[in-house]
Amino acid sequence: MSSTLRFQVVGEAFKRKPVEIPNRVERPSEYFGRYVFNRQKMQHYLPQDVYERMAEVMEGQRQLDLATADQVAEGMKRWAMSLGVTHCTHWFQPLTEGTAEKHDGFVVHDGRGGMIEEFTGKELVQQEPDASSFPSGGIRSTFEARGYSAWDPASPVFVIGDTLMIPTVFISYTGEALDYKAPLKKALKAVGEAALRVARYFYPDVSKVVSNLGWEQEYFLVDEGMYAARPDLLMTGRTLMGHDSARNQQMDDHYFGSIPRRVAAFMKDLEMQALELGIPCKTRHNEVAPNQFELAPIYEETNLAIDHNMLMMSLMRRVARKHGFRCLLHEKPFAGINGSGKHNNWSLATDTGILLHGPGRTPEDNLRFVVFIVETLMGVYRHNGLLKGSIISATNAHRLGANEAPPAIISSFLGKQLTDLLTALEESDDDQLFNLKGKKSMRLDIPQVPELLLDNTDRNRTSPFAFTGNRFEFRAVGSSANCAAAMIVLNSAVAEALTDFAERVEALIAGGMPRMKAILKVVRDDIKTCKPIHFEGNGYSDEWKREAERRGLDVEQSAPRMFLQYLAPASVEMFRRTGVLTEAELVARTDIKLETYVKKVQIEGRVLNDLCLNHIIPVATRYQSQLIDNVHKLRDILPAAEADSLSTNNIRLIRLIGEHTSFIAAHVEVLTEARRVANRIEDTTRRALAYYETVVPLLEEIRYHVDKLELIVDDELWPLPKYREMLFIR
Ligand code: ADP
Ligand code: MG
Repeated sequence: MSSTLRFQVVGEAFKRKPVEIPNRVERPSEYFGRYVFNRQKMQHYLPQDVYERMAEVMEGQRQLDLATADQVAEGMKRWAMSLGVTHCTHWFQPLTEGTAEKHDGFVVHDGRGGMIEEFTGKELVQQEPDASSFPSGGIRSTFEARGYSAWDPASPVFVIGDTLMIPTVFISYTGEALDYKAPLKKALKAVGEAALRVARYFYPDVSKVVSNLGWEQEYFLVDEGMYAARPDLLMTGRTLMGHDSARNQQMDDHYFGSIPRRVAAFMKDLEMQALELGIPCKTRHNEVAPNQFELAPIYEETNLAIDHNMLMMSLMRRVARKHGFRCLLHEKPFAGINGSGKHNNWSLATDTGILLHGPGRTPEDNLRFVVFIVETLMGVYRHNGLLKGSIISATNAHRLGANEAPPAIISSFLGKQLTDLLTALEESDDDQLFNLKGKKSMRLDIPQVPELLLDNTDRNRTSPFAFTGNRFEFRAVGSSANCAAAMIVLNSAVAEALTDFAERVEALIAGGMPRMKAILKVVRDDIKTCKPIHFEGNGYSDEWKREAERRGLDVEQSAPRMFLQYLAPASVEMFRRTGVLTEAELVARTDIKLETYVKKVQIEGRVLNDLCLNHIIPVATRYQSQLIDNVHKLRDILPAAEADSLSTNNIRLIRLIGEHTSFIAAHVEVLTEARRVANRIEDTTRRALAYYETVVPLLEEIRYHVDKLELIVDDELWPLPKYREMLFIR
């Protein structure tokens, strides 16, 4: 990489014109879902009786039989071929955080030397991708690496380019989950059943409860040329060096600012393609940091929402390239400015309404509201450490705990009105509570809640799990993560809490207590129990860290130790009770998380090593030689005293460069040695901890000196595009 390349790519970036977006006459409502085999397409392409059976399968009311699958596949094939499709693939979410696919053509021999297009129910329902190269955490050894992918009919198939994409779960020959979707579906079933049991106390006719997710995806865009000139971005997704730009986000002028034209063109293109794939895009805006943006669709049932997020992330990457950008989903691509997260807005809803919604017409409505809020908090409280384990990663670790994102402690913000309500409920006694329905009990008149809640729009950006009206917003999830990791834990934890709640209430009812009174009694106990998770103050403050520790919340800071929460006895028991993950699966997953952590840091170490030795030190030394040359030449032409006096600054710089380069060279060696030592450790947990303790701090230390050099060395010579060049798209 030479500085000429840097100037070339920067120059090109600034000359680039926005890609023109065709002004479509079609409305979004017309092209929404065009490439999705949704209910309308099913009705058109499937015989009526097959459609009806399929509808029941999608509702989870019946299993899919092979005969039906064959007929569905036939209809799908006709639809797909009308779009020019020639291949199909199962599309699954292995534990690598991305998605995987393996394409098969529709063609088969016709037995007469020709070919015909065929797509059978068996191909739709099940495939057997070789699983040996996906992370399995030791569940299968490579010689028995059979893996199966099986269609998830709750998520419709769709078309990308010439390929029919079939969302599937991915499991091992022995039935263990090798992906995110399989345990997610189990967690959603568990929370659906537990919530239904409790919802029926209030609404006996309710037939179904589902979990909803509305994600907000933050991301950065950088010019493609500059990205290519930054080996660190290319290899690790983040800049391992780079001095602050003089102007960054201190003016607060980027957040909600007007969207640059090149970016607007990208967003429009992305939205159109996403809408065609059935992703209900709604919101887009500039984020806090320069070049940082956000998009959010309308919330959907959690399983579908997650598929859509996975699809969206790959779409973002692809569409960005068409516009001469690279889309960065890393949680912290640039130091010194905000990183990116993925807020997960979560709620439970019946077929008729949202269970976390305040305004209620009857006292029962309002009590239902309190119960679902409190039991969510119970789940979050009991498993606060595990929730942190679900969102932490080598990349998200850079964002968490910095003064910009949720702190590395899980707590919940409820707002004043809800706080007052819970306090009042907690402090009242049985009889008063029993009078709740009476008109006189104004102090605890739960029917008043709606009015209060309508004003309850106060926000607390520092809270990782905030109540925001009719949902909770889990903000600690990383921008590059599969939301399923967090959603598996949250939904399982709430399922467990609701089941516990139901068991205690039903025991009281069996003992003769009236139902509403029993519910009030148990919910009051739980308000007291889960109090430590409730925090309204500033989550960034140091006092909070001390206070949280006093309250017994998980305050662990190191990523590898956070992963171990999956193996804590309370977690293993919770996953067992809810039927979501077995202990063997948990061991495997934890192992994969630790391994992935090690690999990511390892790659960063190597890249930093190369950049320092091949880019930074040579360039700094070259500049130092120029300075030395200048000092010599001044001596040649001037009297010694005068030459010395004129060389003061250069001599200072020569020394400074020498100090920084020596530090870098020496510590790159220390870094290599630290990696070597860590790599020799057999035990995965201890190896990950060694990386955390010895390698990660060195990356930061070395960077400090590189960034100092960036300020000293002649701009003409510096090989890497600088922050100020990468971060301001015109
Ligand atoms: P903000 O930035 O103010 O938090 P956005 O409008 O960017 O809000 O995103 C809010 C997200 O929350 C959207 O995806 C929205 O559909 C979703 N959402 C709204 N209500 C619910 C709910 N009851 N359950 C789950 N998600 C919800
Ligand atoms: Mg939000």
